[in-house]
Amino acid sequence: MPTLAHKIGTLLFCPDCGTLLNLPKDNESSVICEQCEHEEPASSYENIEITTRSHPEAFPSALRQKRKTQTKVHEADAALLKVSEKCPECGHLEAYSKEMQLRSADEGSTILYTCVACKHGWRVNN
Ligand SMILES: [Zn+2]
Ligand SMILES: [Zn+2]
Repeated sequence: MPTLAHKIGTLLFCPDCGTLLNLPKDNESSVICEQCEHEEPASSYENIEITTRSHPEAFPSALRQKRKTQTKVHEADAALLKVSEKCPECGHLEAYSKEMQLRSADEGSTILYTCVACKHGWRVNN
């Protein structure tokens, strides 16, 4: 199941990097995140209630929900170390790192990086 954008009122935020997504233009089937190029289907906007002014209490509860999903750490992510490494794909300055020990000690180790923002993966040999 693909990750869908976070909704706050009438706004959608990128599920990968948290950037505010633009509204889809006419005849466009998806919206591209300006920050990480995450592709969000335009259908995500269809269920948004536009008349939020009549429900002012909807906004804070949506904010609380967002905070809850952000602090939830996936088990796989918890085992990874977050480091300051620049993503070659999107330029984001945080990545998860994981060290892979190769077959023999002579071959050294390889560090796998996964961009926090766009999930781009790359490796660096020691
Ligand atoms: Zn994004
Ligand atoms: Zn990236």
